[in-house]
Amino acid sequence: MKSKLKIAMISSECVPFAKSGGLADVVGALPKALQALGHKVIVILPGYTHNGHVNNLRPFLSPMGVWMGDIEEWCAVQTTERDGVTFYFIQSDKYFDRYALYHDADFNDYQDNPRRFGFFTRAALQLCRDIGFAPDIVHAHDWQTALAPAYLKIWHWDDPVLNEAASVLTIHNIAYQGVYNAAHYGYLGLQWSNFTPDKFEDHGQVNFLKGGIYYADLVNTVSPTYAQETRTSAFAHGLAPYLNKKGDDYIGIINGVDYDHWDPSVDNLIPARFSRRSLAGKAACKRELQRRLLLDDEPDVPIIGIISRLVHQKGLDLLAQVIEPIVHNMHVQFAILGSGDKGLEWYYGGLPARYPGEIGSFIGYNNELAHWIEAGCDFFLMPSLFEPCGLNQIYSLRYGTLPIVRATGGLEDTVQQYDEATGTGTGFKFWEPSAHAVYHTVGWAVSTYYDRRHHLKEMVRSAMGQNFSWKRSAQRYLEAYSQATVNKILTLG
Ligand code: ADP
Repeated sequence: MKSKLKIAMISSECVPFAKSGGLADVVGALPKALQALGHKVIVILPGYTHNGHVNNLRPFLSPMGVWMGDIEEWCAVQTTERDGVTFYFIQSDKYFDRYALYHDADFNDYQDNPRRFGFFTRAALQLCRDIGFAPDIVHAHDWQTALAPAYLKIWHWDDPVLNEAASVLTIHNIAYQGVYNAAHYGYLGLQWSNFTPDKFEDHGQVNFLKGGIYYADLVNTVSPTYAQETRTSAFAHGLAPYLNKKGDDYIGIINGVDYDHWDPSVDNLIPARFSRRSLAGKAACKRELQRRLLLDDEPDVPIIGIISRLVHQKGLDLLAQVIEPIVHNMHVQFAILGSGDKGLEWYYGGLPARYPGEIGSFIGYNNELAHWIEAGCDFFLMPSLFEPCGLNQIYSLRYGTLPIVRATGGLEDTVQQYDEATGTGTGFKFWEPSAHAVYHTVGWAVSTYYDRRHHLKEMVRSAMGQNFSWKRSAQRYLEAYSQATVNKILTLG
């Protein structure tokens, strides 16, 4: 593989420009890490006009024509630079001047989403051609840009600029596949001969992610365990056979985290700073958190933190079945932050009034409180039913807040099970997706807190020393790029 790669990253989200989930964090951090390792990365994004304000955006190219089926669409391109990475924004009022990224104010998906993101993906490749950027790698993310590998193989195989590009597709959550009415297929310009069950056709509809999996030179998801899980029907939402067909070309790469923002030794949002060598600040953070959430001022009672979207995936309906027995039977406190499902919001929002001093909760989105909870708690609970990677448990490790997790996806890969015989480990894991298992694992953590203090201290030190930096994950992506390049050459030959 070349020592200096040219990479075109095509995504519908990227921090700090547009975010709805973890995809934005990955696309915000990975290009910077690749660039720091000596590679040239450009990131191509939709120019959403209602999502945040981007400074220093310069007009770059206008107009740019993009053929969709037999219709020529027009757009403009703007650009900016950050940390040596060049960002391009595809501007189209018709498609990107909207209330939010994917849905209207009533949370209804935009009807023309397949056209919006099909167009965006074609435009991104057109831009590479128009500016003569010949990428070694085109890196696409999730269903929104999953057509990029397909366009490369169907239309650009003999293109002087794009013919050598190998493609990588990253799946951030397989629950979202982009399945739409086949009436949109003609517009996408993918040829009807490819509307077959092994490629785009899915029970009469068009499935973007499925087609992307077929055409990509390499597919990955965001943790090794989630990669294994999604090879089975229980996790893959219908795509397991297609992922299994990829063989060794479907892999898992754990996400990195941004320690510039999530490390208690540099975190300016928390009441006091601390580190592995000096933990005094953590006690101060605990005290301030108890005050802020109106919890009893008890330094020696463990606090269990939760920061989560309140959705079925996160297993918080399981916790709802046992949180009250836990508070009755164990000497613990809870600090809960989340928003989402109205029933869960109502339930968790009402607990502080019923258990004053023992349960504190805030319903809503609050980044500062999220940092306070990571810093001030003793344990962090994530009973997820599935978790492609998960970030909060990785943050918790660095803040010495031991994760209590269901051993699924990235939770399995990032938390080491406590061993009562030796005192090793970085957290507490359970496998069964049941309220019973949540109760007993919380009980195990709480008894360790009170009865095996020396083990707990050792675990905190070990957790704080774990390293999930982007530098490491970027190295893994470079290996994946090299594997994709070999596959591309093999298909040409
Ligand atoms: P997911 O992407 O499935 O929501 P992750 O654990 O990967 O779960 O990432 C969650 C991210 O969102 C974390 O950075 C977390 O701190 C943040 N977060 C989630 N809910 C809230 C909230 N209510 N307030 C503040 N931050 C939140």
